[in-house]
Amino acid sequence: MADNVGNADARPDLDLEGTFGKDAPTIDEQEMAAVEAPCGADGVAIPVGHPGGHPGGHPGGHPAGIDRQRHGGARSVGFRPGGGPEAIPYEERTGIKAPRIIAWEITRSCNLSCAHCRAAAEFGHYAGELSLDEIKAVIDDMVTITNPIVILTGGEPLMRPDIWEIVDYLHDVGAMPVIGTNATMIDDAIAAKMAEHRIPRISVSIDFPTAEEHDTFRGQSGCFDQSIEGIKIAKRHGVGVQINMTVTTLNHDKVEAVHDLAEELGVDAFHIFMLVPTGRGSDLLDKELPPEDYERVLEWAYERQKTSPLHFKPTDAPHYYRIIRQKAKAEGKKVTREEYGLDAMTRGCLGGITFCFISHLGDVQPCGYFDMQLGNVKEQPFSQIWTESKVFNDLRDYSLLKGKCGACEYKAVCGGCRARALEVTGDYLESEPYCVYEPPAWKGECTVDEPVSGEGDGS
Ligand code: SF4
Ligand code: SF4
Repeated sequence: MADNVGNADARPDLDLEGTFGKDAPTIDEQEMAAVEAPCGADGVAIPVGHPGGHPGGHPGGHPAGIDRQRHGGARSVGFRPGGGPEAIPYEERTGIKAPRIIAWEITRSCNLSCAHCRAAAEFGHYAGELSLDEIKAVIDDMVTITNPIVILTGGEPLMRPDIWEIVDYLHDVGAMPVIGTNATMIDDAIAAKMAEHRIPRISVSIDFPTAEEHDTFRGQSGCFDQSIEGIKIAKRHGVGVQINMTVTTLNHDKVEAVHDLAEELGVDAFHIFMLVPTGRGSDLLDKELPPEDYERVLEWAYERQKTSPLHFKPTDAPHYYRIIRQKAKAEGKKVTREEYGLDAMTRGCLGGITFCFISHLGDVQPCGYFDMQLGNVKEQPFSQIWTESKVFNDLRDYSLLKGKCGACEYKAVCGGCRARALEVTGDYLESEPYCVYEPPAWKGECTVDEPVSGEGDGS
């Protein structure tokens, strides 16, 4: 699936502001105020005013609803996804935030076979995938604690013949489905279905600005042209589009060009993803940017988003939220919501905090790149896994972070990529290996007595 490298599927990355506008309550006003949450989830943002109608609230939103009109079924009135009425008693009862965004690999089948696919997906049937009835049962349980944004991903989710039934069911229970797709299957008929079934936005991975480079990277001749055509058709039908670009050593000097292509196509958002080499993507381990180049790309993003007409969001790059605060301080600014929108409100890594991933077999993980199964929805209710998993609970307690991240004053707004820490050190609480920052407390220059939190902590 073309999006597997990117992240619309496996990592949290909702473009909340692009989705609901600056004034919409954000995923985590309350979390950030508590100095605890932030990472950019990955996936698909949801635009305001989508032609197919769309829910009012922001995807990660806190439980107190916003009052825009939502579409959807009988149970979808009066609250927004990403929280919902069930989240309030759940959070009060457990002290745990309800999941706001869930990426769900509803199939691993894919019409493509990209070289760096997280899921290592291929065409054909995968044994053990959840049936429609099993999916509905999981959704029924899920909505006892939250009404999330559900990123339907794969594989290629459009390969699943019952996808529209899944979409309708999610709407009916007050959740918000979005789709991460490679877009190569999108023709007029499918785009019309997307609009009819009220898909507010799709995300599509485009990694290079030209067909030759993109197809070579993907190992798929012709897929660039097909994806671009799919994007144009989706737009014609009023479906919002987000372009995801996975940044590696092969294309880090092309982020501006891909951004410009996205602008030219008139899409709604442009999200850069930093490669997390797992699955088939582990073959690209040597293509992961060294920390210094990684930092440079994030600094570029900080500057470019100031003037870009597109909604912009680095994902799986938790230290972007450290960089924002360092840059803001240098510019004499506070990182406020008014000035920085949702960047002031969210956190670097949300895996296990307000985001998680469900695999095609039903395994639950903090994100698709965090190579550890914390339970299976065929054997245990999703709500129980979310509430009781030790790993989830460890990830929610930032005081458990070790090494550099544990000593870092930015750990509440960054936290480091736990999947990379796990991959490189075997310990998901250890230091993020791709961060150049050396916290003063780590160097023994001070203690972490003034942790940087959310809004207003840029000074
Ligand atoms: S040391 Fe860890 S918490 Fe601090 S900025 Fe780097 S990755 Fe983030
Ligand atoms: S662990 Fe890494 S890849 Fe997963 S959500 Fe966090 S930052 Fe993203």
